[in-house]
Amino acid sequence: MSAQYSVPQERKLLTALPGPKSVELQERRLRSVSRGAGTLANIYMDHGAGAILVDVDGNQIIDLGCGIGVTTIGHANTEVAAAAAAQAAKLTHTLFTVTPYENYVAVAEKLAEITPGDFEKRSVLVNTGAEAVENAVKIARKFTGRRAIVALDHAFHGRTNLTMAMTYRPWPERAGMGPFPGEIYSVPTSYPYRDGLTGEEAAAKTIDYITTHIGATEIAAFFVEPIQGDGGVVIPAPGYFAKIRQFCTDNGIVLVADEIQAGIARTGTWYSIEHHDVIPDLVTTAKGIAGGFPLAAVTGRADIMDSVQPGGIGGTFGGNPVSTAAALAVFDLIERDDLLGEARRVEKALWDRIGDWPERFPVVGDVRGKGAMFGVELVHPGTTTPYPEALTAIIKHATTNGVIVLDAGSWDSVLRIMPSVVISEALIDDAMSVIEETLTALSGS
Ligand SMILES: *Cc1c(COP(=O)(O)O)cnc(C)c1O
Repeated sequence: MSAQYSVPQERKLLTALPGPKSVELQERRLRSVSRGAGTLANIYMDHGAGAILVDVDGNQIIDLGCGIGVTTIGHANTEVAAAAAAQAAKLTHTLFTVTPYENYVAVAEKLAEITPGDFEKRSVLVNTGAEAVENAVKIARKFTGRRAIVALDHAFHGRTNLTMAMTYRPWPERAGMGPFPGEIYSVPTSYPYRDGLTGEEAAAKTIDYITTHIGATEIAAFFVEPIQGDGGVVIPAPGYFAKIRQFCTDNGIVLVADEIQAGIARTGTWYSIEHHDVIPDLVTTAKGIAGGFPLAAVTGRADIMDSVQPGGIGGTFGGNPVSTAAALAVFDLIERDDLLGEARRVEKALWDRIGDWPERFPVVGDVRGKGAMFGVELVHPGTTTPYPEALTAIIKHATTNGVIVLDAGSWDSVLRIMPSVVISEALIDDAMSVIEETLTALSGS
């Protein structure tokens, strides 16, 4: 990339982390913000560019998290900012379902083009990932006249009441917050590192569980993350989703690909289900779609999407003019700068740099990933027993040394690496060196 950034693309620490201004802000925050909105690192950010965040003390920090995969195109992209600013000065709100505007339609047209499948499609735009998942549930129930919803083990689908019920982990997402809605079922998935099954074998297990616990013809929708994000960057074995697709087709079940985290260039394709060569009926999109502006969508088969009565889906801020202007700029940028190719460049750089970690470090059980989305599964040496304390140590060392990394996994033992696709090889190398310091320390003990 030849892009010029307003912040040099290098890690540079002026203070200990968190610095004095962050510490001050943290004191204010503890007196004003709910403890429930916990943070990974109490480093308060001021601005950013490309793959670098600059905190309130002037420290330059390498961002390998992108606010959970949102700023895929890089921080504070000047073209996206200009598109949003121009729209904000022109018109900020009408409510599309009162009086419509072109941006909304243009985003829906683009989503029809980039989502898998060459059938007629429709979209609805909303604000958040969880809202997109909730709408996909409503639409699938309306279309099928059925109630049951299936989600995979280790899934993450959001934090609203309905999507919490579809999310696998009890802690911290769900604990003490029930009751949850009924007719939601978690079913076994494919987790190659842990189950050792082929895609076909894992799918047979999934389908057997459904047949014996739920009944295929009771199911409205089957939700899958083609690459699980919060679940630990779990990539089901080849052939798994083809079998699930066939099962859904045979039984009139709406197959929904939740692409909220892995979609929009993150894995080197527009949508991560393309790696599995499967066409879902509906797709949910959010995180990376608008460079940080809140926007989400449900896109899919016209017959399913149009089965809903007018007024049955929508919401005040959904498909806001400013967010949609930003999304259109993001789509342009992805195409013009070949950001799908950039994600594949990052994938190669990461494989070259960390592909041998399982051989070099006994605490690394597995390295897996696609594009700019990698998981490093940490285990007690010589076993496959999850090692969450190792992840805690890595995150603590990384964040105090100016590298933001993410946690993941049902056992809190997967290091998640999700940089912007514009990150340089030099920054990847520097950040991985910081992580290796902890891996070396852990391996020596
Ligand atoms: C983040 C995420 C959601 C929820 O999105 P929000 O915008 O936080 O509501 C749903 N599904 C997946 C796969 C996600 O990664």
